Amino acid sequence: MQKVGFFRSIHVKFVLIYIMLILVAMQIIGLYFARELEQTLKDNFTTSVRDRMNLVEFSVREEMIKDRSTTDDPPLEQSLWNVLSGFNSEDINEIRVIDAKYRILATSELGNQSLVGQRSMEDSVRRSISSETVYENINYDPTKRERVMVLVTPIKNNNLEVVGTLYVTANIEKVFKQINEINQILAGGVAVSLTITIIIGIFIARTFTRPISDMRRQAQAMAQGNFSRKVHVYGNDEMGQLAIAFNHLTNQLQESQSTTESEQRKLASVLENMTDGVISTDRKGRVSLINDSALMMLRMTRDLVLNRPIASILGLEQEYTFEDLIQVKDSIALDFSTEKVPYILRATFSVTQRETGFVNGLIVVLHDNTEQEKIDMERREFVSNVSHELRTPLTTMRSYLDALAEGAWKNEEIAPSFLRVTQTETERMIRLVNDLLKLSRMDSKEYELNTEWVEFNHFFNSIIERFEFSKSQNVHFKRLLPSEDLFVEIDTDKMTQVIDNIISNALKYSPDGGDVRFGVTTSGTFIKVMISDDGMGIPQANVNRIFDRFYRADRARSRAMGGTGLGLAIAKEMIIAHGGEIWAESEEGKGTTIFFTLPFEQQEEGEWD
Ligand code: ATP
Ligand code: MG
Repeated sequence: MQKVGFFRSIHVKFVLIYIMLILVAMQIIGLYFARELEQTLKDNFTTSVRDRMNLVEFSVREEMIKDRSTTDDPPLEQSLWNVLSGFNSEDINEIRVIDAKYRILATSELGNQSLVGQRSMEDSVRRSISSETVYENINYDPTKRERVMVLVTPIKNNNLEVVGTLYVTANIEKVFKQINEINQILAGGVAVSLTITIIIGIFIARTFTRPISDMRRQAQAMAQGNFSRKVHVYGNDEMGQLAIAFNHLTNQLQESQSTTESEQRKLASVLENMTDGVISTDRKGRVSLINDSALMMLRMTRDLVLNRPIASILGLEQEYTFEDLIQVKDSIALDFSTEKVPYILRATFSVTQRETGFVNGLIVVLHDNTEQEKIDMERREFVSNVSHELRTPLTTMRSYLDALAEGAWKNEEIAPSFLRVTQTETERMIRLVNDLLKLSRMDSKEYELNTEWVEFNHFFNSIIERFEFSKSQNVHFKRLLPSEDLFVEIDTDKMTQVIDNIISNALKYSPDGGDVRFGVTTSGTFIKVMISDDGMGIPQANVNRIFDRFYRADRARSRAMGGTGLGLAIAKEMIIAHGGEIWAESEEGKGTTIFFTLPFEQQEEGEWD
């Protein structure tokens, strides 16, 4: 989070505002105080000067209006000098007496005695005499570098005529000095009180900003998922209540966060443990979530898939846009089959929508439908095989029966052979139907094995002998049977059928003068039976298909031999029912070997004696 700049922080702002306010208040008070003080001090000074001047004026007036022709008094100038020299005051610099014709009659200043008798050039004196009023002013004396107060008072005789004037200069600088000193004290006071208020201000501001920065830190911590912090509650004021509300908010957030998290965990674990693939997209159709099953089904990695358009992930970009997929009501089959391996997924779509109808995204559930499709395909193939297998003998029979019906029955040479054909075809059909019934019973697990303990070498040999006696071809049988007894628990009828079929196959495909070898070995808890011939063999690619229903490597030849293609399929089911396995190894043109295993128990010596 961004750090608050020093001058932007509330703390500093608060203190600054506080200082400003105090400063303005003090300034106003100080200004008012200083002005009042100056005025009062000046007034006091003027009053004291005037009071003293009144006394002087009185004496001067007495002298000036005195009738000097009759008395032996000294001349006016002398008398006035006497009056002025008798007056002594610290503040008063000089007193001059000037007559109505502006002539200086006397001065109290010893150094200025030369001015006596001269005309006063002072402007204030003229004004006072002409206007007959007191004139008062403060002038700056540049020579002494101090302020001087000038007080000019007209002197009137008994007829109220101006006979002269009293010109007084007084040293007012002391008053200004005093004002300065007081101002300095005031400024000092302001400085001290400002310092104190700054300190107090900082502390007061802290009481506001501490909870705020506390909350800020907590909000930052919360953003990083840490809900353990709590804001300290300093008091029960608005800040305190805000802090309490903030802590409450933290708790609520923590709770809702933990419920959301646990819901998410639940959802994630549900998604991850689903065998079906789930993909969800955002409203633009880009993949936002995909579970491992879906990744496995699509054979992709998460990085490759996330944020990519769903249609291209499913390989549907040619036929569907995202808008089309939203409209899909049914599921879509995705065929990823290769030539050899069938692989079909079924995608079901559901749209996540708000109440307003606004599409939030799409959820796609993928289901591996390969097995189902395979079963369906096999079923279809099976039905078509069965119908084909039945139709061929039936059409053959019909044509022969037609021929017989059309008169061939009368022909003694043809009729019996025609009837034989219909007979063999009927037998073939019966065999086929019987085989199918056997398979169907095994598929529905209805049948039970009637097992008994037999010695396998003996059992096997008796079947081989039966073939050896009845065979019509020139084929040599070679036995590779062990001398020891091997006891197995088998259903002898069913095992006979299995071995019969394998041997009859070997004979069917053996060339004249070829060998058929029979072998039995043990390995662990199994016996392994081997029947091998020198026949035409089976193409490598089809070796394992010979156990499929109706599979015949060479259809025409097999049919000619009367085979249905179900023999090995039945054998396989039976061997599996006995807990064994069956497989074939073959090389085209060289021969075929069929192996099968059966579980057996090694018997203690002498147990069967
Ligand atoms: P059925 O056994 O029902 O009379 P069939 O022999 O044709 O008919 P299977 O025994 O299931 O059917 O054999 C399936 C196919 O496997 C045969 O048609 C044949 O093409 C091939 N096959 C089986 N055994 C051999 C073998 N020993 N040599 C060569 N091909 C074989
Ligand atoms: Mg067969």
